[in-house]
Amino acid sequence: MRIIHNKIFPFGSYYAINLFGIVFSKQPLSDVEKNHEYIHTLQQREMLWIGFYLWYAAEWLIRSLRHSSTKRGYYNISFEREAYTHQDNPDYRRNRPFWAWTKHIKKASGGIERS
Ligand SMILES: [Zn+2]
Repeated sequence: MRIIHNKIFPFGSYYAINLFGIVFSKQPLSDVEKNHEYIHTLQQREMLWIGFYLWYAAEWLIRSLRHSSTKRGYYNISFEREAYTHQDNPDYRRNRPFWAWTKHIKKASGGIERS
């Protein structure tokens, strides 16, 4: 996974974005943040890259409408739920089951509560 630091991308309040395994970041990433982004790289590979982005966008849209919030929509995307749940575990990437993100599709209404 390659990390490119810059001052403008990603736009808005996001600190990093992972595009096809290349992470663009506006600030140096902590080990936890790197692990989070690496989990996304694993998700992208198993979804054959484009499938990841199509699913991600569709789920973000649906969950944003459901929660009436784009931010809550973001935190409740299955890929994000998996990454945020396991980002603190440096061994997760080695033990992660194939398509593990699918276990995070269904969760109690609201999923991770973040504001
Ligand atoms: Zn993420």
